Amino acid sequence: MNRVQKKIVVLGGGESGVGAAILAKQKGYKVFVSDSGLLKQEYKEKLQFYCIEFEEGKHSIARITGADEIIKSPGIPDSTSIILAAHALEIPVISELEFARRYTQAKLICITGSNGKTTTALLLYHILKQANLNVGLAGNVGRSFAMQVAHENFDFFVLEISSFQLDSMYDFRADIAILLNITPDHLDRYEYEFQNYVNSKFRILQNMKQSDCFIYSNDDKVLIREIQKRLVVPKTFSYTTSSNSNNNGFLDDNNIIIQVPEKETCTITLNTMLLQGKHNYANTMAAAISAKVIDIKNETIRESLALFQGVEHRLEKIPFTIKGVEFINDSKATNVNSTWYALESMDDEVVWIAGGVDKGNDYSSLIELARTKVKALICLGLDNKKLLKSFRDVVPVIVETYSMKDAVSQAYKQAGKDSTVLLSPACASFDLFENYVDRGNQFKQEVRNL
Ligand code: ADP
Repeated sequence: MNRVQKKIVVLGGGESGVGAAILAKQKGYKVFVSDSGLLKQEYKEKLQFYCIEFEEGKHSIARITGADEIIKSPGIPDSTSIILAAHALEIPVISELEFARRYTQAKLICITGSNGKTTTALLLYHILKQANLNVGLAGNVGRSFAMQVAHENFDFFVLEISSFQLDSMYDFRADIAILLNITPDHLDRYEYEFQNYVNSKFRILQNMKQSDCFIYSNDDKVLIREIQKRLVVPKTFSYTTSSNSNNNGFLDDNNIIIQVPEKETCTITLNTMLLQGKHNYANTMAAAISAKVIDIKNETIRESLALFQGVEHRLEKIPFTIKGVEFINDSKATNVNSTWYALESMDDEVVWIAGGVDKGNDYSSLIELARTKVKALICLGLDNKKLLKSFRDVVPVIVETYSMKDAVSQAYKQAGKDSTVLLSPACASFDLFENYVDRGNQFKQEVRNL
């Protein structure tokens, strides 16, 4: 760079921040990484290797506010004092994805929504790999987008994008955008205003051109209402888990049908897919429509679906039964809507383990499913009052537990032959576990210990 070297500060030294720092350094910026917590050893080593200065355990305000541009990791809320200071000084604050987009010509397939992002992203990535495309996977999942832009030369990226990332994206443009659904989540970061969260999700459409593609669920009332309100520039493609053939993806008896204009219709027989459950049919339609849009052969789509096993901790079946009892780990169900789909996909005789940190949950949508399918509810959280109150008159047996060991053993005690023990908490995990992965792993370990 022959001008005065521009200064970039990266806030947050995790996967996203370190990737952004390395890309910024490669592009000739003067880079400084600041993290109020401690950095993992592997990230420190990477920064040192690339001679990037960093600090941990603090934010040096003067140095940070001397930046020309700030790249913020998605975990840092806008209300943090350092971000407020940057806004007051009109320093642009952007996300890693916004920054890295400037340096890649790859086609970006961007997936957002309240539930199903990771599953759909991994499925689509799997299909595109099977089709031998030169494709990367990034965003909220896997390795940092910026790092891959720095070191690889992909033709396509599948990006999983959260609302927090979208909030700091301005010039970013998706070539294909998928919006899976919008149900209340993370409202604590949106001033408890659902509409703020909805607006954030719709940023996925910003800057899109008429030749770009927007794929969405026609079963989601919030999405339909918003689409009617807004000017949607790109071509639209919708899907439904009903049999309404006015959509580009729909169900016909035991088949998923994908019909994209000017492409051969693709029929996928449900029992040839490993992913099961209504929500996964929806995710599959979203992925398959994108695959058709970029000309993937029907045969490749079908073969990929016959191989894709789903993602750990999302309605993950434990591969054995104990005295006829089946166990399912859905630890990633951290909100009510994802648990609704879990219960919906169950036969009856469910022993349901739920609870944890409540993000303002309203359990009313689960009442009917619980009444017909759940024979015992095992509460697993430090504070189970709301669960107890909501299901007291609905489920015949309710037991309170405070450890996974106890929860699994109580659940097994309540389960009879042909029952299913389902961990689908509808809550975050931070009261008793490190995160949902830790919660799911402990569940699997305790099942093995039975
Ligand atoms: P995300 O990345 O959006 O959190 P995941 O694929 O990790 O989504 O799934 C999170 C939870 O939501 C899991 O419990 C999963 O079974 C459930 N789920 C997956 N797809 C959907 C969908 N389309 N609608 C509702 N729930 C879903």
